[in-house]
Amino acid sequence: MGMDAARLKGLLLDLLWPQTCAHCRRDLPRGWDDPLCAACLLRLRPVDRPWCARCGVPDSGGRLCASCRADASACRMIRAASLYREASVSLIHAFKYRGRKSAALWAGGYMARAWARCPELGRPDVLIPVPLHRRRLAERGYNQAELLAQALGQSAGLPVMERGLARLKNTKPQWALGRKKRLENLAGAFAADAALFRGLRVLLIDDVCTTGASLEECARSLRRAGARDVSAYAFAREL
Ligand SMILES: [Zn+2]
Ligand SMILES: [Zn+2]
Repeated sequence: MGMDAARLKGLLLDLLWPQTCAHCRRDLPRGWDDPLCAACLLRLRPVDRPWCARCGVPDSGGRLCASCRADASACRMIRAASLYREASVSLIHAFKYRGRKSAALWAGGYMARAWARCPELGRPDVLIPVPLHRRRLAERGYNQAELLAQALGQSAGLPVMERGLARLKNTKPQWALGRKKRLENLAGAFAADAALFRGLRVLLIDDVCTTGASLEECARSLRRAGARDVSAYAFAREL
């Protein structure tokens, strides 16, 4: 009943290596490097212009959306590589809730390829991943935004700063709240080390941008710490 070495190796690889598409869950061909199958790769949709000139929310006719018109922002601009839909949602769930780190690195590579679509972001001095609260970090074992930033930084030749910005409050996502209320809840949630950010042009990196409230709160901390300019780039943009 001997199992041959190749088959044993295959079984071990299957155990160690997630081999199903993060979206449709079908088996991926052996040696396939992408976390999505060929059909689902096509379902990763870029954000189409026109979008809000500041926060990047689609369908605003290219002008500022209502909430950007109403409030001055510390975060100069938000852009995203994909729409938070279908395959994009599954991919985020795979690296956020199912421990699939390699999918986050892949998504960072996708962000690098999509970056050319947003020349208005300019060239930052550093990439800064939106930090997790230490308790959340301990649960997950990694910060997905950090993996995205590492992959993007490597491909774009930009340094990643993983220290100096900390999340002090472990706030739950507040889906039901409007932008104003979310900002109030997040006030004081982040702290930035003034010695590290003075004069820097910063690009914040996150997996998903919903209302932009946590990006805005990070930007406020960084601007208070002397950063010259703060913009943000997310893997996915929710409508
Ligand atoms: Zn698939
Ligand atoms: Zn806007």
